[in-house]
Amino acid sequence: QSNQMKMPLWLDKRAFLTPERMALEENGEKWTWAHLQRGAQELARRLRSAGVLEGDRVALLMENRLQTVAMIHALSYLGAVFVPLNHRLAPPEIAWQLADSEAKLFLFDGSYQEKVEGIEITGTMVVEWSQLKDYPASEGSLKTHIQLHEHHTIMYTSGTTGRPKGVILTYGNHWWSATASMLNLGLHAEDRWLVCTPMFHMSGLSILIRGVIYGMTSVIHQRFEPQKVIHSIHHDKISMVSVVSAMVSQMISDPSFQGVPDHFRCMLLGGGPAPRPLLEKCRERSIPVFQTYGMTETASQIVTLSPEDSLRKLGSAGKALFPAELRVVDGTREVEPGEEGEIIVRGPNVTEGYWKRSDATEEAIQNGWLRTGDIGRIDEEGYLYVLDRRSDLIISGGENVYPAEIEAALLSHSAVADAGVTGYPDERWGAVAIGFVCLQKGQVVSEEELMNHCKGRLAPYKIPRQIYQVEELPRNAANKLMRRQLIQLLSDSTDEGGSME
Ligand code: ATP
Ligand code: MG
Repeated sequence: QSNQMKMPLWLDKRAFLTPERMALEENGEKWTWAHLQRGAQELARRLRSAGVLEGDRVALLMENRLQTVAMIHALSYLGAVFVPLNHRLAPPEIAWQLADSEAKLFLFDGSYQEKVEGIEITGTMVVEWSQLKDYPASEGSLKTHIQLHEHHTIMYTSGTTGRPKGVILTYGNHWWSATASMLNLGLHAEDRWLVCTPMFHMSGLSILIRGVIYGMTSVIHQRFEPQKVIHSIHHDKISMVSVVSAMVSQMISDPSFQGVPDHFRCMLLGGGPAPRPLLEKCRERSIPVFQTYGMTETASQIVTLSPEDSLRKLGSAGKALFPAELRVVDGTREVEPGEEGEIIVRGPNVTEGYWKRSDATEEAIQNGWLRTGDIGRIDEEGYLYVLDRRSDLIISGGENVYPAEIEAALLSHSAVADAGVTGYPDERWGAVAIGFVCLQKGQVVSEEELMNHCKGRLAPYKIPRQIYQVEELPRNAANKLMRRQLIQLLSDSTDEGGSME
């Protein structure tokens, strides 16, 4: 391999450049880069005694903690591949990911003991985190360099549209994602990024990777708690935070929210559609929201909208980051500006494919472009508007109806806490939209009122034929709405007479 692909191991380089600068903080505990390096190296030596070799997959079921970050870096010292596991997955789902990734070792935090007991594991060694100290720290040298084409992570997709797929992410994918983000957002010496999304998702992991490359402090929260985040933004001098839209709405509706301080410069919003009413509320409160579009396959954001454009382009996800590219196509034809089609992306941050799924890889990556399965349009100036997933599209009387747009209309009603929309077979129109809502605590609203609310906001063919009130919407372990399962609520809600009619 040529030296152009080779660089010093990231944590070694960082600890050499800025050993005393703060790497991580959690609940008042602070680690410098030198401290993190020592911790990661020691873990690497113990992992080696446990039998981990270069190229092995190591699956981690761990909380957002300082130690987790050390473990992720420890894997780099051995050239082992990191397989993050979502702790909200059910035991059989975890068993499946362990088997699919052919993990050599499964490491878990003691707090998940009960869950782990329910997992049927074959062919993978299982070690509880605290038992790792029983393995002696082996002598022998650790890796000092990485090659950009080497595998860093196998991260499973959320499984919103089917079985999760293991996305292979190389050091190069992460490197280019981190630098693309910096070229867009800039890097300030005093930047501190709050990690309150899980480290087992791209959203959380990408902050840690930016941290080591930029020399920036990551402030870690074990989980998202709106009041804690609001407090931290002020008192921990947070300048950036990554969030999904449900987190933003919880934060701004919290009584303790009094706006953001001057040192706060970026709320990076991604993971799913951002309802327009929410973006408008953020604008009223002068929150610097950067809307983004991305997926596991692109190692986090690939398209981002800056606040200076957000007034003019409210609802757009922005432009493809430097050096990524973006197109909207119909089959192989690139569509005209304003026309809808499938979003395809290309760039050095984009995965080379799915682990052991050459069929899915061939289907998704064609001529170097990744077909995202999402529908969108690009305006005359090159700004992307993401409409919805292709698989969730409702075709009603020949018109394309996007559930996300109807959900946003329902959510703009003050009594509605959550909303989901899906298609329902209809003799005359082929399919019609039907809606499901969860109401805010203590609120009562009639189906007719919600219909009228939609009528003022949507074209007639988009108005849901029926709106059902339910207790909860089906969401997966990534908290994403599983629209294909909404139909099952129908039988539940008629049983209970829960329809609003
Ligand atoms: P699976 O691929 O297993 O079905 P998933 O696609 O939900 O799961 P992720 O990689 O976590 O797994 O999510 C990426 C998807 O999230 C995108 O393909 C897109 O559908 C959605 N998404 C991300 N950002 C946005 C956005 N700004 N607007 C609309 N949708 C978005
Ligand atoms: Mg996907």
